[in-house]
Amino acid sequence: MNLEEYKGVYVFAQQVDNEISSIAFELLGKAKDLAKDLNTEVTAMLLGSGIKGLADQLAEYGADKVIVVDDPELKEYRTEPYAHALASIINQYKPEIVLVGATAIGRDLGPRVSARVATGLTADCTVLEIGDFPLQAVPGQEQLHNQLLMTRPAFGGNTIATIACPYNRPQMATVRAGVMQKIDPIKGAKAVVEEFNPGFTPDNKYVEILDIVKSVVDTVDIMDAKILVSGGRGVGSPENFKLLEDLADVLGGTVSCSRAVVDSGWKPKDLQVGQTGKTVRPNVYFAIGISGAIQHVAGMEESDIIVAINKDADAPIFDVADYGIVGDLNKIVPKLTEALKAEIAAAK
Ligand SMILES: Cc1cc2nc3c(=O)[nH]c(=O)nc-3n(C[C@H](O)[C@H](O)[C@H](O)COP(=O)(O)OP(=O)(O)OC[C@H]3O[C@@H](n4cnc5c(N)ncnc54)[C@H](O)[C@@H]3O)c2cc1C
Repeated sequence: MNLEEYKGVYVFAQQVDNEISSIAFELLGKAKDLAKDLNTEVTAMLLGSGIKGLADQLAEYGADKVIVVDDPELKEYRTEPYAHALASIINQYKPEIVLVGATAIGRDLGPRVSARVATGLTADCTVLEIGDFPLQAVPGQEQLHNQLLMTRPAFGGNTIATIACPYNRPQMATVRAGVMQKIDPIKGAKAVVEEFNPGFTPDNKYVEILDIVKSVVDTVDIMDAKILVSGGRGVGSPENFKLLEDLADVLGGTVSCSRAVVDSGWKPKDLQVGQTGKTVRPNVYFAIGISGAIQHVAGMEESDIIVAINKDADAPIFDVADYGIVGDLNKIVPKLTEALKAEIAAAK
């Protein structure tokens, strides 16, 4: 493998039902930073059926070029044709870096593609940067520059590992949703579109989709919420979450929770914040009766303002909180709700 042949930062632009997923825009934002450091371009890979019209949206979020594979075989996500299309693009264009969202689709697709193109993949990254490998020069070992350094929690979140892929290309990573920042859209940007046909040979061993049943969710996705009122085991019972719902109602916020709450069956997994839940970045995050375990903090520490309420003054959540209230949530939360209600009424 001649590593010099591999150029450019490529992003798998996931779309579902011909709507580009938010993660694609987040990855383009990060790809732009990486491409700047490497003095190269950002290319989005858009796969689907009837999706050509979406290319300009990708340009608005930072893609210099969009490679489009538009084929009826790609109407719904299926592992085999998608893996074939993506691996074919990589073999043809030889990108230096390939980023894929760590969504259900990306977690299925990324490793298959990396195996087909014979390279490594670091899953579930939270930080990506360009740097040296090894990080510190080792006598007798060549230190390689301009490597993709991929950082992710390891050993159950108890440590953070930085991983490189120095001897193979492309360097591939899946990246958690909500971690990277989109750029402000460049209105009216037009994509340079290149259509690519990887040559599909329909195979009777392909998965056949007989029916699609969509789950109906009537709550706001916590990743989009501006205000999150998050409860932990300290809330005490599912019924007691009413206190948090009242606070969220007054603020126009959404309730979320820790894993302990999900494990206890008090709230659905969709509402879990943290390493094995969702990464959130609201304007305000209330952590109520949450101890602040590293795996929880990993999912909310980028919030603009963190307010913690906990009866234990030594709880680690106070280390990341901007404002902390030590005391019993059963007393504090109703008082806070009433005070905010009065404040909002007075401001009207
Ligand atoms: C591999 C792995 C992945 C994980 N992923 C996640 C994840 O994604 N998200 C996540 O949240 N956790 C995750 N965890 C679990 C994590 O380690 C903690 O166990 C969990 O976050 C604890 O939840 P908690 O803070 O709600 O409960 P606890 O740790 O039990 O804390 C409860 C807190 O409530 C306070 N409290 C109790 N009563 C009151 C009261 N009346 N008033 C005020 N405060 C009160 C207590 O002082 C305490 O600080 C993961 C663990 C592992 C090993």
